[in-house]
Amino acid sequence: MSEKMICPVCNKELKLREEGYPMGSAFLKADRVHVNIYECPECHEVHLYACDGGQVTCPKCGTLHNAKEACPVCALNAALDEASK
Ligand SMILES: [Zn+2]
Ligand SMILES: [Zn+2]
Repeated sequence: MSEKMICPVCNKELKLREEGYPMGSAFLKADRVHVNIYECPECHEVHLYACDGGQVTCPKCGTLHNAKEACPVCALNAALDEASK
């Protein structure tokens, strides 16, 4: 994901601070919302954009998981490997 986000005030390109940041668990009872956090280099205004959770595909097993977290399948496999040693 490399879309350019532009500050509506300064017309400067926003810098991506956090991608797929999990938000809303404290406010929402439902699923967490994931946002991309952008900051304007000019006015330092922070802009939040909802995103699909910053999902990445694990190169090892192909599981789609949150980019902020380790692959749950690989973590489980590692734990099982460890247990069978
Ligand atoms: Zn700005
Ligand atoms: Zn994996």
